[in-house]
Amino acid sequence: MKKYRVVYNRSDCIGAAACTAVDSNWVMNTDGKADLKESESKLDNTVQEKIIEEKDFPAMLEAARVCPVVVIHIYDFETGEKII
Ligand code: SF4
Repeated sequence: MKKYRVVYNRSDCIGAAACTAVDSNWVMNTDGKADLKESESKLDNTVQEKIIEEKDFPAMLEAARVCPVVVIHIYDFETGEKII
């Protein structure tokens, strides 16, 4: 089954909440920024990463597309190719 790596540049999130409207993987935090649920926190939580399966890809892709500051990126887990 295909897998994807999601890399979220949390430090640049402006709290628009668009991601949470289209994908249940996202939740707003009390600090005004979004959190990627069940993700690995890196670099003092300025970056969050998560591996997702194919079934979660369409909603995650939509979240990445609607983010106005383009801080959600998705890579093919096997090849490392950047999808968005
Ligand atoms: S859509 Fe982008 S800017 Fe808005 S809360 Fe989600 S990650 Fe942050």
